[in-house]
Amino acid sequence: MKIAVLALQGGVKEHIDHLKSLGCEATELRKAEELDEVDGLILPGGESTTMGILLKKTGIFHKLREKIINGFPVWGTCAGMILLAKNIENDEARHLQTMDITVMRNAYGTQINSFSIEKKIDEFSEEPIPLVFIRAPYIVSTGSNVQIICKVNNNIVAVRQGNMLATSFHPELTNNLAIHKYFINMCNK
Ligand code: GLN
Repeated sequence: MKIAVLALQGGVKEHIDHLKSLGCEATELRKAEELDEVDGLILPGGESTTMGILLKKTGIFHKLREKIINGFPVWGTCAGMILLAKNIENDEARHLQTMDITVMRNAYGTQINSFSIEKKIDEFSEEPIPLVFIRAPYIVSTGSNVQIICKVNNNIVAVRQGNMLATSFHPELTNNLAIHKYFINMCNK
């Protein structure tokens, strides 16, 4: 099994390290053809506008979108969640639009308002997990086919829709491996 991390911009290495710690083969993805060599893809945190532009420039956009619609496992963290969303409440831009969620960009304010909490999330683990939010989006509404996995202060911050997982926060910036383990399981099926 081999999982890739989209490596056009943003926090790539930390995801790769987490996957490797779990004994999973992990690779950086920069070309559309490389999508055929992997069993799943992580869309990392970074800047969704920039990543959206680069997805199109590299030709990854259309191939990735087709694959996701046909069941290819993806996990978007933070900016990656914005890339997957059908709708963005406070932005004109739209990206892959495969996931039936409406997100609010920078919903918690600027970099200064970044924060971290611990929370037990039954879907992921029996132990509390540290959740790190950095200029994070949250989800303002979901389609009926979307499973809400976690809310913080009544805002939705983790969801799943079949082969797609999205989290507002950054598990790759903590020592906890629970959500990477969960995603590896999604890719195994
Ligand atoms: N604020 C960024 C965006 O809107 C996301 C931040 C992040 O990925 N840490 O694209």
